[in-house]
Amino acid sequence: MTGPAAGKVWLVGAGPGDPGLLTLKAARAIAACDVLVYDYLASSAIVALAPPDCEKIYVGKKAGAHTLSQDEITALIVKLGREGRRVVRLKGGDVFVFARGGEEAAELRAAGIPFEIIPGITSAIAAPAYAGIPITHRDHNTSFTVATGHEDPTKGYSSLDFAKLANPKATLVFLMAMGSLAGIVAKLREHGMPGDLPVGIVREGTKPTQETLVGTLATIVDDVARTKFAAPAIVVIGNVVRERETIRWFDTHPLFGKRVLVTRARGASDEFAEKLWEIGAEPVLAPAIAIGPPDDPAPARDALAMLATRTWVVFTSANGVDACFDALSAAGGDARRFGPARVAAIGPKTAERLMARGIRADFIPSEYVAEAVAVGLLERTTPGDTILLYGAQEMRDILPDALRGEGRSVDVVAAYKTTHVRDEAIARAAETTDVWTFTSASTVASFLENVPDASALQSSRLVACLGPVAASAARAAGLRVDCVAASFTVDGLVEALAAPVGG
Ligand code: SAH
Repeated sequence: MTGPAAGKVWLVGAGPGDPGLLTLKAARAIAACDVLVYDYLASSAIVALAPPDCEKIYVGKKAGAHTLSQDEITALIVKLGREGRRVVRLKGGDVFVFARGGEEAAELRAAGIPFEIIPGITSAIAAPAYAGIPITHRDHNTSFTVATGHEDPTKGYSSLDFAKLANPKATLVFLMAMGSLAGIVAKLREHGMPGDLPVGIVREGTKPTQETLVGTLATIVDDVARTKFAAPAIVVIGNVVRERETIRWFDTHPLFGKRVLVTRARGASDEFAEKLWEIGAEPVLAPAIAIGPPDDPAPARDALAMLATRTWVVFTSANGVDACFDALSAAGGDARRFGPARVAAIGPKTAERLMARGIRADFIPSEYVAEAVAVGLLERTTPGDTILLYGAQEMRDILPDALRGEGRSVDVVAAYKTTHVRDEAIARAAETTDVWTFTSASTVASFLENVPDASALQSSRLVACLGPVAASAARAAGLRVDCVAASFTVDGLVEALAAPVGG
């Protein structure tokens, strides 16, 4: 869609915080917009889904710290729509739950600008859910009410009918109520709600920073004062809060709330980051290496002609697979160019990437290291067999040396290059994280260049490595390695991190 006539606005709910709770439809709209207008509850991982050339406009809207007024925000999205842009107006939670989406939609309609609504998961339900508090439960309630604790000041406080709200058999959920909690509790007590009725307050629900406070109507105001519990939070009043004792789940993970430094290359870290979110940890992306084309691209191109003539073609990383197949596509070819050659992958991720390109690996060693590839290939070949090896420009010689030593003929293609990133953000991220992760020796080396005093800084921070090569590089650099992934994959690393680790 181009030209002024094609302007359109999507009012999109970003969900409560955990980026995994974004809907598929919202993700598609964000990935296709040219302007993103977002406020403070939208997670940075979601904002990052916007295309690189998308204009991102932060409009704030935190209680007491408005960046743009609601009228200014509405005027802004109308103006952008009129300019023919594809605008995503991203709001925390759902667009219509205390989010003024209704007013924005009405203004768009009045201005004749087409719009779509993409509902989001509201924090009113999701924050309690992540605290193990079900919004309804057969034993406790048959309805729930979602109310605002932050009434329009011009309307006064009394528009909430506390006589009706004061029903211990109905769950009450208050948003924006941290400032008015004492008043709400007093009104409910006044209308006969029992002092021992449970109250749960969940702040920053669904995020690694989630905190939950449980008390009763009689104690909660003091509990909040004592713990300095602050917004943004959801207040749940009712017997459903008791269920947390049984079904609490999210904030019990050993890595819950931990900030985890991810040093691997951008792009390669997405899946790892997602897995960390799932266990309540916060990925802090500070790529220490970048993957790029090799200094000389000619050998990778020329190697295409060798594919079908070699006994084996070997890939030591998913990057090598990408480099090979990108060259193949550019030359108008596809997987058939491998002909009768057999194919080896160093590990399951590399094999998965091959599979996506139409090739099933004939061999994956049980240990995902170069030494094991060499042993496996020697078993499967005889002297005189020919092997084409796609690796990094800076690859270790272990594999080609081991094969050549036994009379195999080996061609090595420098398919890609790993460069070290110099960025002050890496040192800052190192200081503010609880776990440092390294997926290769090169991430360790580059990290050390950015954080020369890493071994002094480490202290109680955990160091986790994807495999023995990264681990020995980390030890050589004076770091204490607290865990090494048993299966040498990112999944294994998450598993190893999740197991209770000492030290
Ligand atoms: N449209 C949003 C609500 C916006 S009003 C939704 O559907 O979730 C802002 C209020 O929402 C905050 O003051 C707080 O009460 C609540 N809130 C939003 N996100 C929250 C979260 N992750 N955890 C707890 N409360 C949250």
